[in-house]
Amino acid sequence: MTNTRSDWEQRFQSLSIEGRAFIDGQYRPALSGATFECISPVDGRFLANVASTDEADAHAAVLVARQAFESGVWCTLAPAERKRTLIRFADLILAHQEELALLETLDMGKPISDAMAIDIPATANAIRWSAEAIDKRYDEVAATPHDQLGLVTREPCGVVAAIVPWNFPLIMASWKFAPALAAGNSFILKPSEKSPLTAIRIAQLALEAGIPKGVFNVLPGYGHTVGKALALHMDVDVLAFTGSTAVAKQLLIYAGQSNLKRVWLEAGGKSPNVVFADAPDLRAAAQAAASAIAFNQGEVCTAGSRLLVERSIRHPFIPLLLEALQAWQPGHALDPATRVGAVVDQRQLENILRYIAIGREQGAELIAGGNRTLEESGGQYVEPTIFDGVSNAMTIAQEEIFGPVLSLITFDTAEQALQIANDSLFGLAAGVWTRDLSKAHTFARGLRAGSVWVNQYDGGDMTAPFGGFKQSGNGRDKSLHAFDKYTELKATWIKL
Ligand code: NAD
Repeated sequence: MTNTRSDWEQRFQSLSIEGRAFIDGQYRPALSGATFECISPVDGRFLANVASTDEADAHAAVLVARQAFESGVWCTLAPAERKRTLIRFADLILAHQEELALLETLDMGKPISDAMAIDIPATANAIRWSAEAIDKRYDEVAATPHDQLGLVTREPCGVVAAIVPWNFPLIMASWKFAPALAAGNSFILKPSEKSPLTAIRIAQLALEAGIPKGVFNVLPGYGHTVGKALALHMDVDVLAFTGSTAVAKQLLIYAGQSNLKRVWLEAGGKSPNVVFADAPDLRAAAQAAASAIAFNQGEVCTAGSRLLVERSIRHPFIPLLLEALQAWQPGHALDPATRVGAVVDQRQLENILRYIAIGREQGAELIAGGNRTLEESGGQYVEPTIFDGVSNAMTIAQEEIFGPVLSLITFDTAEQALQIANDSLFGLAAGVWTRDLSKAHTFARGLRAGSVWVNQYDGGDMTAPFGGFKQSGNGRDKSLHAFDKYTELKATWIKL
């Protein structure tokens, strides 16, 4: 059992890290032989040389994925058989929980306790959930005239490529590959160049679980090379993406320039968390607000990065918020007591510090954090930061920082709060705190966001869809709705 930082360090010594691509059931270097170095943001240690795949590898992977699909080796299996295989895959992921958690933490900087308690179990759970669902779904018979039989069926699309970000590397990937594989598709996963290691590792586990070769492939590499090649590929049927809004827009262009592949986008956010004076428990609201900006170093698409507080409770609320934030101070990511780890890399750290400087320049008042910290560790750590006196027009309230920087905005009326909450290019999530049931419902209806949390922040599980309005994207991960993205709807008319 690994309980201390030194236990994890010891575990690291025995870790053998795979950096090659996984195509047709085998690890392979990039066809060009190119690699890039994977360096840990936790303390700057070297982790692996990773295959830098490009267009040629994308072609190779799409070819084997297509062949596997056409052969029927996976898509024609009975759903109950695919279910059993995927459940074995989930079980293998859990059996390798410590190894995968260690890789996830070292690769992208999150606290080891979160990787153990959240990332790896949630990944296994996502796979199990989609697997369990697939043999309980039925197609439809249309309301036809007496001499016709109209069948409305769903069938797998074929080759699905997924391009995913680094903030929850395995979870984000599993929300896509679990329903796509359960539905019978072949799959190509392009992890972020900043966090490729767990995706590469689980490819072997997928094969071990019995997913046939060619059905699950992993292409590590950069967005502008292999990511672009997949998005432009003429034989990729579906492109599922989680990442920034800027790249999401580019992917729609690539689909238009190529084969009109279906493009499902889960993009950025700048979510409002609205605390009314009649919130049932101000301390709970303050604790949730701190967690909403500090959890996962603020590198969360649904981070509650705009905190809207009703003017009459500003004075009691702010000290509660500052107190709650004390529990979220950065520490070495391999220390099991740490709740805030390292941000993903030097570039991300500089970006966060740049936004903090902009907040100051534009006249917001820094009331907590604001600095780089733990520099002696050799890693990239930043203090959770709060700006008070923010106007929603300021850059720090409009742009996604993707770090632990909170903008506190004061409002006077519910109408004003709703106007501010919706005054954003994004529409991913929102929180509202009130004990007035009618106000909660009315406000939730008015919010232009894909997820709304009342008297909590960031709740939910696999049972409800997750995705955004507006420029937060068009796709929905999780729940039975996710299957719609990976299946084509067919109408078959039989003359009786
Ligand atoms: P990013 O858009 O920079 O990169 C995401 C992925 O796209 C990476 O794998 C990258 O290599 C690839 N990519 C980059 N350029 C590409 C191109 N031209 N063609 C094809 N692929 C390309 O995002 P990121 O920095 O990895 O992640 C942070 C972003 O992800 C934030 O905006 C965050 O809000 C968003 N996110 C959204 C959700 C959601 O569910 N809506 C969840 C997590 C993260």
